[in-house]
Amino acid sequence: MVNSRLSAAIETLKHNGVRMTPQRHAILNFLFSTMSHPTADEIYKALESNFPNMSVATVYNNLRLFKEAGLVRELTYGDASSRFDANMTEHYHVICKQCGKITDFDYPPLLAVEEEASNRTGYMVDSHRMELYGICPECQRKMEYKN
Ligand SMILES: [Zn+2]
Ligand SMILES: [Zn+2]
Repeated sequence: MVNSRLSAAIETLKHNGVRMTPQRHAILNFLFSTMSHPTADEIYKALESNFPNMSVATVYNNLRLFKEAGLVRELTYGDASSRFDANMTEHYHVICKQCGKITDFDYPPLLAVEEEASNRTGYMVDSHRMELYGICPECQRKMEYKN
């Protein structure tokens, strides 16, 4: 699964004129094998022991390349650093208020909301962003232990 996505991604990058390097390969592989929606910094920390010459800026530049090629999505949160999501299917996110974990939630896109917003405001609405907040199962368990 990861390998076929990886080779498809390498093809896409090639079409975009992006040469594959070991670092690029490692960053892609990391993104495809994690569900954690990592920040550039987290990716850097996970890979730095294998690539001592790599910097956070390198990771960030590569993520931008991947984003331009349509391989990852950037999730921005105001001032906090962006998170990166290699799951390109339509999905929503549930976010833990305690630990900040982001979990994918498959649910049909709420197109009716976009249509209604468009009808009522006259905007040409083409996308929306919805996030759900709560306490993840791990944090719930920790809370139980404390009580
Ligand atoms: Zn949590
Ligand atoms: Zn996601």
